[in-house]
Amino acid sequence: MIKNIIFDLGNVLLKFQPSEFLLRFTDDVEYIDQFVPKIFRSRVWMELDRGIISLENAKSNFISKYPEEKDFLTHFFNHWMEMLTPIEKNIKVLKELRNLGYKTYILSNFIKETFTFIGKKYNIFSLFDGQIISGFEKTIKPEKAIYETLLSRYHLLPEESLFIDDVLFFLKPAKKLGMKTIWNQPETDLREELRKFDILI
Ligand SMILES: [Mg+2]
Repeated sequence: MIKNIIFDLGNVLLKFQPSEFLLRFTDDVEYIDQFVPKIFRSRVWMELDRGIISLENAKSNFISKYPEEKDFLTHFFNHWMEMLTPIEKNIKVLKELRNLGYKTYILSNFIKETFTFIGKKYNIFSLFDGQIISGFEKTIKPEKAIYETLLSRYHLLPEESLFIDDVLFFLKPAKKLGMKTIWNQPETDLREELRKFDILI
């Protein structure tokens, strides 16, 4: 029986669509197409998620690497967190789950400073019984350690725990540890998926 429901943040509870967001600032689609992976799939961004460098250092790092893009990078770093807006349909499901008595948790690759920023901006973090944020834990998904930290810190039994993530390979380690999983895609009806686990929502 499922007792614990664990949520990823980006593209589960918070919108994370860099290309769509950055096209508000320029209509140069080609530029954004090369810019987004260059930033978000970089080693530096992974270090941010892991909590071993600050956003300020990351910004300087990118600017020294791509000096000709200094203006856009500066603008990017001043604004990118604005794209992290609540996905209301899933927040609603989260609230209902809590009303039904389920324990709810966060398991997310997320930057420390960004988590603090979001926590002040939106009143959603009070909706959880616990949270494992990579930037604070110094380990990131899909490393086994971050999943084990979640289970041990909150004394969760994997077979009673259901993890929801939009990245398929982040579900694998959870499954391996015995947790149930839901792969959340933009068109996913979370309510319908939860019912498959006998959650009467
Ligand atoms: Mg995500």
